[in-house]
Amino acid sequence: MTATLLDGKEAAAQLRARAAQALAECGAAGITVRLAIVVATTDESAAWYVRSLRTAAARLGVECEVTELSSAAMATEISAVLEELSADAMVHGIVLQAPLPAGLSLPETASAIDPAKDVDGSSPLSLGRLLAGLPAFAPATAQAVLELLDFHRVGVAGRRAVVVGRSVVVGKPVAQLLLARDATITVCHSRTPDLAAVTREADVLVVAAGRPGLITAEHVRPGAVVIDVGTNATADGSLTGDVDAASVGAVAGALSPVPGGVGAVTTAQLLLNTVTAAAG
Ligand code: NAP
Repeated sequence: MTATLLDGKEAAAQLRARAAQALAECGAAGITVRLAIVVATTDESAAWYVRSLRTAAARLGVECEVTELSSAAMATEISAVLEELSADAMVHGIVLQAPLPAGLSLPETASAIDPAKDVDGSSPLSLGRLLAGLPAFAPATAQAVLELLDFHRVGVAGRRAVVVGRSVVVGKPVAQLLLARDATITVCHSRTPDLAAVTREADVLVVAAGRPGLITAEHVRPGAVVIDVGTNATADGSLTGDVDAASVGAVAGALSPVPGGVGAVTTAQLLLNTVTAAAG
């Protein structure tokens, strides 16, 4: 591997330090910061993420409660839980974990979250404010990509950025955040013909497709910065990204690892958002 490793652990530590400081101020004001996570899936990657979020919250001192619903839960049932949590003054941040039961839209269901507690930027209001350039919590994973780039001093202004994936959780918001930083953006998806020809144009390539090993050396321009957002559970219980690190690492200028890259920053970002919401 010749690429510089864009490690997320130090970037996450920096965010956690900011969160710890704000948390201490909340404590001094008599506020116990509490995050609520609503899960309605049996997806392995989601379970892995929720576990790591709980562990990170416990380490920081943020209380965390998980409401587990059936993976066949109806929209009305999920909305009722989100409304109850939104009305609970003891809860400061609410995460509606993706994926949702088949047929349910994440933004539509998340519209039941009080915007002030929408720490993962899932509701249409938060997403719309992001698009409009107004203050809002951006989806934590998308924000984490920018935090990782900033930590490693990778500038994007004026550069060509290609995002693989167009979900509302990662692809679209990360494209929006990069655009707000004056990058020139191309967003690819499963219907993009000749993906490699498009991704090879990237100075900065962000991959969030949920397809292990989708991106190989032939997709990457020599020297490009590659951010692997993919977190795919493997048969042995570990995680693998969307980027074939062995081949891409020999071509890219820099590459974020999985695990220990964007995922590490995401949990820290979400906790920082929660403490920020609690501080008001
Ligand atoms: P998603 O909702 O399934 O969206 C995947 C996107 O990738 C879709 O837009 C899809 O295109 C596109 N895609 C799929 N196969 C493709 C292909 N062969 N070529 C080009 N594009 C393709 O997934 P997501 O929620 O965005 O998550 C993406 C990955 O990020 C997953 O591995 C997930 O576990 C991971 N993730 C990580 C974090 C973290 O903290 N690190 C957080 C959230 C998600 P279409 O729109 O055409 O279907």
